[in-house]
Amino acid sequence: MKRAGGACAYTPAKRPSAGHWSTKLIECMGNPDMVVQSDDLTVTIKDGYPKAKHHYLVLPKEDIPSLRHINRTHIPLVKQMMENGKTLAKKLTEKDGTLKFRHGYHAIPSMARLHMHVVSQDLVSPCLKNKKHWNSFTTEFFVEAEQVIELLESKGEVQFDKSRFEEFLKLPLRCHKCEATPINMPKLKAHLEQHSRSKTM
Ligand code: AMP
Ligand code: ZN
Repeated sequence: MKRAGGACAYTPAKRPSAGHWSTKLIECMGNPDMVVQSDDLTVTIKDGYPKAKHHYLVLPKEDIPSLRHINRTHIPLVKQMMENGKTLAKKLTEKDGTLKFRHGYHAIPSMARLHMHVVSQDLVSPCLKNKKHWNSFTTEFFVEAEQVIELLESKGEVQFDKSRFEEFLKLPLRCHKCEATPINMPKLKAHLEQHSRSKTM
């Protein structure tokens, strides 16, 4: 699929057709095995390829393709998405007090329909396979839900430059909990297991 510089793949003029890989989250919203909670405006699903022990996606019921398609009128919606993610994280944290979560968006998403990640900060998962995966959750590529709301309030839009933000995905591996800089993914994963065992952070 051809992507214009700075634009995501699914502008209103060119949306992926039903069945395309990038529409799979929309399909999941109708699958009871994937849905964990829903309300008048949002649906929360399990991430099908979780990048941590707990990984969920909160999506709007409204057909909003991505961050680039929201404006000030969507502030109540994105606040509700954040609150729903935090409520889910709180429930999980009540069961396991060692869990920590982040709530946010990939600056340049790959999948259609706006979605907010709710992701536990162990970042331990067999689906987290490469540097791109790692950096998408541990660098500025991951944009906090609060920051999205602040941008909507101050600028009325959320636009990230594709070429600038994709550079974050190429940064050297760096632990998100300490100063360690493992030289490859197996070393990073071994390092993360140490954090998991010692429950640091
Ligand atoms: P992104 O578009 O980069 O914000 O992230 C898309 C998320 O969707 C990733 O965390 C994927 O693991 C997840 N994902 C990709 N394909 C599927 C699928 N078929 N079912 C459920 N989740 C998926
Ligand atoms: Zn570390």
